[in-house]
Amino acid sequence: DSHEKRDFIRQIVREDLASGKHQAIKTRFPPEPNGYLHIGHAKSICLNFGIAGEFSGVCNLRFDDTNPAKEDPEYVAAIQDDVRWLGFEWNELRHASDYFQTYYLAAEKLIADGKAYVCDLSAEEVRAYRGTLTEPGRPSPYRDRSVEENLDLFRRMRAGEFPDGARTVRAKIDMASGNINLRDPALYRIKHVEHQNTGNAWPIYPMYDFAHALGDSIEGITHSLCTLEFEDHRPLYDWCVDNVDFAHDDALTQPLVDAGLPREAAKPRQIEFSRLNINYTVMSKRKLMALVTEQLVDGWEDPRMPTLQGLRRRGYTPAAMRLFAERVGISKQNSMIDFSVLEGALREDLDSAAPRRMAVVDPVKLVLTNLAEGHEEQLTFSNHPKDESFGTREVPFAREVWIDREDFAEVPPKGWKRLVPGGEVRLRGAGIIRCDDVIKDADGTITELRGWLDPESRPGMEGANRKVKGTIHWVSAVHGVPTEIRLYDRLFSVPNPDDESEGKTYRDYLNPESRRTVTGYVEPAAATAAPEQSFQFERTGYFVADRRDHTEAKPVFNRSVTLRDTWSA
Ligand code: ATP
Ligand code: MG
Ligand code: MG
Repeated sequence: DSHEKRDFIRQIVREDLASGKHQAIKTRFPPEPNGYLHIGHAKSICLNFGIAGEFSGVCNLRFDDTNPAKEDPEYVAAIQDDVRWLGFEWNELRHASDYFQTYYLAAEKLIADGKAYVCDLSAEEVRAYRGTLTEPGRPSPYRDRSVEENLDLFRRMRAGEFPDGARTVRAKIDMASGNINLRDPALYRIKHVEHQNTGNAWPIYPMYDFAHALGDSIEGITHSLCTLEFEDHRPLYDWCVDNVDFAHDDALTQPLVDAGLPREAAKPRQIEFSRLNINYTVMSKRKLMALVTEQLVDGWEDPRMPTLQGLRRRGYTPAAMRLFAERVGISKQNSMIDFSVLEGALREDLDSAAPRRMAVVDPVKLVLTNLAEGHEEQLTFSNHPKDESFGTREVPFAREVWIDREDFAEVPPKGWKRLVPGGEVRLRGAGIIRCDDVIKDADGTITELRGWLDPESRPGMEGANRKVKGTIHWVSAVHGVPTEIRLYDRLFSVPNPDDESEGKTYRDYLNPESRRTVTGYVEPAAATAAPEQSFQFERTGYFVADRRDHTEAKPVFNRSVTLRDTWSA
């Protein structure tokens, strides 16, 4: 198959299956439920679920919920919604918190084996002892506590006897290691915080590296895919998996079996890939959160946000998201992807998937004076110029139509192909018209155009073959439905809104033109759309019926993307 993806991770998976190292592969997507997913997460979702699908494997969705202070069930629900929207289904839904008892037993085992100890240094002291890149760390004065004392202290930590931050459990690895992650990293900390899943059952919580490595191992994950910043954590990941060694110690995973979960234990391999960065965008959860809380946008699903909820509301389709992920590819090189690649993927999907309709965004009335007062008729339009399977529809036409203000010029610039006084233009599907009169108000604003429809120029007639420079779209003024049209554009007006030089922050780079709301008119067959239906409004752009606000009686359309890239030079 020439469409087979050939990135380095898929090559590893292929080899591991060919060599018999694995009979089947298993991946996972492990979000922390502390915010909404963004387009960077979509890259990871498409990778993990994509590989599972392509190689007849499975992918778990695991909530890495080990940091209860920042987590919320609202995020847990939205994340599941997002994964399904992208078109993927997980094998099993797990929570790191499902494994708290097993994590606890694993830490006890490490302590019993002399591989971990309870340390009383404060966070600040730990930092001071840790050393630097050029200077080895110093051992904690608590490093040589006896196994008995360590076990007793750890059990009392678990019983809730000590206040937050009083003690930690640390792996006993190597304070002189060139890799700072191996200088006796913390495995457990004390935190008297209620957890969204386990309530007040635990006053101690496992640290990310420990919980993550063991979670992968418990689930039998074969390939644990993560972003490059975890490369330096890989030795610790392996240390945790190897020293806990679930495969040879069923007692550790007995709590899972008791809870009805399978015993799967495997040795997962961590593989890092570069994270997605897109220009004109911020992607850090902290900044996205600030945009929401400071009300610089209308919540997490504002159509300008790079969250999956925002992109969805903007009119991005799951197919466009997957196409984008494929275009961006997988590598170990950090790079900045141009925003136009994202927009291009949407255009490509909608060009083939979106039916055509007519809408007028900035209406001015055109009266065709040679048609009878009250003249109305139905014209038949094809719904897609390149795909007959989309069928046809009736478009009502009348003596008065709306056209777009920008399709008329009193004094045309050079190369103008649209309407001018005395000039002719094709009115899409209705015939050739001529503009005879321009009517203005006292300020000189054009309020109406008057013209003539050549009765011999209807499509199919001999007279229609006459050479006329341009074709413009229109909506019957009798039948057109007034519509709220939200003209969205990029949220930031500079390529790198993360640039903090000269004391600026991303707040200073917000694009003041990123949302403009106007009232226009759409043909009836657009107004009756279901929410989330996308259309190409001919000559104007791709639009989606707003997921939340659109109704047939009060249509609301969001501009998803313009027809052409207007940002690149
Ligand atoms: P934070 O560190 O702000 O909490 P995160 O980006 O680490 O957020 P997680 O919820 O931990 O968010 O991410 C879940 C998965 O998505 C991780 O495996 C992570 O590597 C991946 N991921 C997150 N951001 C990106 C990105 N920009 N590109 C590719 N993968 C990403
Ligand atoms: Mg994370
Ligand atoms: Mg992170």
